[in-house]
Amino acid sequence: MTENKPNKKKDIRALTKEQLRDFFVEQGDKAFRGNQVYEWLWGKGAHSFEGMTNLSKATRTLLETHFVINHIRVDQMQRSADGTIKNAVRLHDGLVVESVLIPTATRTTACVSSQVGCSLNCKFCATARLKRMRNLNPDEIYDQVVAIDNESRLYHNHPLSNIVFMGMGEPLMNYNNVTKAIAMITSPEGLGMSPKRITVSTSGVPKMIKKMADDAVRFQLAVSLHSAIDEVRTKIMPFNENFPLADLKESLQYWYAKTQSRITYEYVVWKGINDKKKDIDALVKFCMYVPCKVNLIEYNPIDDGEFQQASSESVTNYINALEKRNIVVNVRRSRGKDIDAACGQLANKT
Ligand code: SAH
Repeated sequence: MTENKPNKKKDIRALTKEQLRDFFVEQGDKAFRGNQVYEWLWGKGAHSFEGMTNLSKATRTLLETHFVINHIRVDQMQRSADGTIKNAVRLHDGLVVESVLIPTATRTTACVSSQVGCSLNCKFCATARLKRMRNLNPDEIYDQVVAIDNESRLYHNHPLSNIVFMGMGEPLMNYNNVTKAIAMITSPEGLGMSPKRITVSTSGVPKMIKKMADDAVRFQLAVSLHSAIDEVRTKIMPFNENFPLADLKESLQYWYAKTQSRITYEYVVWKGINDKKKDIDALVKFCMYVPCKVNLIEYNPIDDGEFQQASSESVTNYINALEKRNIVVNVRRSRGKDIDAACGQLANKT
């Protein structure tokens, strides 16, 4: 099998449509041939040149000699009792990431990975223990979405409706590839999804949040806040030392001024860590800086008990304080826990 040998041929999906058109012109063919191949690669999600049936045999062989299609393979699919599906996705170089399909009555959400492992060191997250191996390419992100879209049609009888970049990795540390993947996902030549249905979740990298604002991106922004007190946040998310809350706040104000797009704060309440009045007061104050809403996420244990979900009374205290100031707050119950598919549990146990 040639697939297992180190391959020096170029990954065809690293080429833009213009580069593909140029390739065919250089080969003495028509530029239009490039459009046909592009349509196969992105619109139809072809995984082989063989299957490009409206191309001549000679053209398919030509492509075969110059290029490969480095597509992902779903190695293992696990289905939770609650309908959640987790895919273990094998990349062309053998590394594995995970992505998750989360169905509700009204929507199907794909939770996709942006990196193999993660360079950040959030103390409560299983992915952090893997360290960062490499960034995913745009096509590897795109393929995860296509795989989940297919599963959604197959098991839930409707196409994928939303995407969240809340799988493995920090999307803003792989910004170029994430935005390229989103460009294909939203393009009519790709999946044609609305950017409003795509959320990029970040632990909060101020410089990159400002860059996104400058780039006038049209997807939604979520920030994993977890504490609005520097001392506490640095303890649980050590990179906060380098990107303190004052910088985060400034970048979010910049984001809102440019995009007018409301920010979502993700927040877990842990026993003894951020369940006191001072923690609540700090969050309420932080929420005053920019229009926002808060998602209180249920904690998914990953260890031997250093972190524990706070009491429902503490969570209620948060809700009451936020609602009193007219801040929208949702409580997000975790999904897919029985297959380790919940937030922060993605770590390739297989
Ligand atoms: N790096 C990005 C995206 C990946 S994490 C980010 O930090 O936002 C996706 C979400 O899951 C984040 O809000 C993260 O804080 C949260 N999370 C991580 N571990 C968790 C756990 N064990 N239980 C619940 N949520 C967790």
